[in-house]
Amino acid sequence: MERILVTSALTYANGPLHIGHVAGSYLNADIFVRYCKLKGKDVIYIGGTDDHGAPISIKAEEEGISPQELVARYNKSMKEDLKKLSIELDNFSSTSTSEHNKLSQDFFLNLMDAGYINQKTSKQFYDKKHKRFLPDRYIEGICPYCKSPEARGDQCDSCGKLIDAVNLIEPRSKISGETPVIKETTHWYLNLPKFEPELRKWLETKKYWKDNVRNFILSWLDEGLIERAITRDIDWGVPVPLENAKGKVLYVWFDAPIGYISSTKEWAKRQGKPDLWKEYWLNPETKLIHFLGKDNIPFHTIIWPAVLSKQKDKYVLPYDVPANEFLNLEGQKMSTSRSWTVWVEDYLKYFEGELLRYVLAANAPETKDSDFTWKDFQNKINNDLNNVLGNLANRTFIFAKKYFDGKIEEELELSESSQMALRICKDTLSDVENSFNTYQVRKAVKSIIDIARSGNKYFDETKPWKEIKTNKQKANETLYVCAELLNAISIALYPILPDKMLELRKMMNLSGKFCWKDIWDLQRRFIIGEVSPLFKKIEDAEIEKQLELLKATRKGKEKMEHKSEITFDDFEKLEMRIGKILEAENIPKSKKLLKLKVDIGGEERSVVAGISESYEPKELIGKKVAMLINLNPRKVMGVESQAMILAAEDEGELVILVPEKDIKEGSEIS
Ligand SMILES: [Zn+2]
Repeated sequence: MERILVTSALTYANGPLHIGHVAGSYLNADIFVRYCKLKGKDVIYIGGTDDHGAPISIKAEEEGISPQELVARYNKSMKEDLKKLSIELDNFSSTSTSEHNKLSQDFFLNLMDAGYINQKTSKQFYDKKHKRFLPDRYIEGICPYCKSPEARGDQCDSCGKLIDAVNLIEPRSKISGETPVIKETTHWYLNLPKFEPELRKWLETKKYWKDNVRNFILSWLDEGLIERAITRDIDWGVPVPLENAKGKVLYVWFDAPIGYISSTKEWAKRQGKPDLWKEYWLNPETKLIHFLGKDNIPFHTIIWPAVLSKQKDKYVLPYDVPANEFLNLEGQKMSTSRSWTVWVEDYLKYFEGELLRYVLAANAPETKDSDFTWKDFQNKINNDLNNVLGNLANRTFIFAKKYFDGKIEEELELSESSQMALRICKDTLSDVENSFNTYQVRKAVKSIIDIARSGNKYFDETKPWKEIKTNKQKANETLYVCAELLNAISIALYPILPDKMLELRKMMNLSGKFCWKDIWDLQRRFIIGEVSPLFKKIEDAEIEKQLELLKATRKGKEKMEHKSEITFDDFEKLEMRIGKILEAENIPKSKKLLKLKVDIGGEERSVVAGISESYEPKELIGKKVAMLINLNPRKVMGVESQAMILAAEDEGELVILVPEKDIKEGSEIS
């Protein structure tokens, strides 16, 4: 029998769950798993937290707790949030278990025995102030490929390329802000070039993978694989199992995917069948499907299969990696450090979990980045769910209760328009199946809502409220067809809205066991039971509140960047005085620059100042301003600038600093 093993990318345990995680690798996996279950397939869904790495040990240090306490906290909160979103993993583990440590060490040793690991001395960045080697994520600089100024030492978020930290241009330590020094250290490297021919051959068999994933890998391979260090000089992680590697741990990227296996082992134990995991991982018939965001593509399609393929046990390799692109928020890239995200626990204080499932599914970043906006959230809930689906259910049920005591009879002889309504539904359902099979959730959602939409149209056209007066059977026929549509929708939409669809089926006295083969089971009677609205409208005020909250948390958490400390002697080198502006004019062809003549106390200086977007020349004349006057003179657009006017910036607007009361020009500032 075909077995399916689904994973969601392990979530880094340094913060709670946010909607980017949900859209990137959880919701799409959960929907797929639920669909497979509808189809009666043997499927398990595995995940957990990725507990290792320097950011976690640094954060724990800051909070004065152990890394273990920190990751346990976030593992627990993620588990709870997932549950409230009806995301049901068969096992949600973590990578800081002893089982995982042991397995990761075995993986390392097997690769070493097979001749795929080399020991090398290399140069690494070292923060002299904090006396530690800098983890890649703690170095920032300019990307050597795309020149983005905010590349990290391991990867550039702008172009997505993996980076060797020592190649960063103008590197700086994120811990101290200083330029790090390079020091020698010994590490163990995965010999990726040696895997290349095999990997290429294997990837040739993956022509059915999503285009965005295949293109990413092919461009990566074309640049040529390089050896990658899989150990690190930090104290929190899986110890390297070698005598001469004291104080070193496996790189978090090496051990994290092994967590899928250790989590499956944990699951098997919980089932009371400790060897059950083998029937998935060591069975060539298993379809291993990794759901993840695009930043995880290289690790899961190149490094991970390479690592898996050289183990003593014969592991199944990934069958598919349907990676999603990124979810943006209100038009901007999500960022947890800038608090530009929606935390699931915050969302749940205001709205039902399933509503988020619906909106993220309807707007899934499957082929390109998509944008979550609160306005769109409101529109989708109010229009698709409330006005279309909710309306079809409501009008059908209310009518049935009012005129038929809730009993809708089967109808053998159907009119042309009734047959048509059912045919449209049946055709659409085969599109829905195809969409679910190919991870196109957006399309599936749209098709299902279209069934409800055509149901409403059919209801309007057959006018049961008129027929009831003259031809009761005709009115019943409309209700019967709509009830059949609602039955089909309740099953098709189950992967996306499991609890809501259970509610819907309860109102119709249909079985709470969801099964795809019941989707088309015509000609029965329906008995409508207790009825209540499935959805309610989201008001403008509720959305405005969310937008305000988003802005407020961002303002509160915007991180202030500090420069390194200076001594008093450094400060004393600055000569700052009050100057009086005598003349001011625009510099031709320049958008921002003004040319000024300033009296600094019986001495005139020519100054070029970039303030013309904030000040008109004439409003500056006569103003007394704070100035730095011993900066090296330099020529700007042909004009020599012999001093600098001090100004403060507020969201792009420059404001010059003026003395609090009138004071003689030339007065020294200290
Ligand atoms: Zn780049």
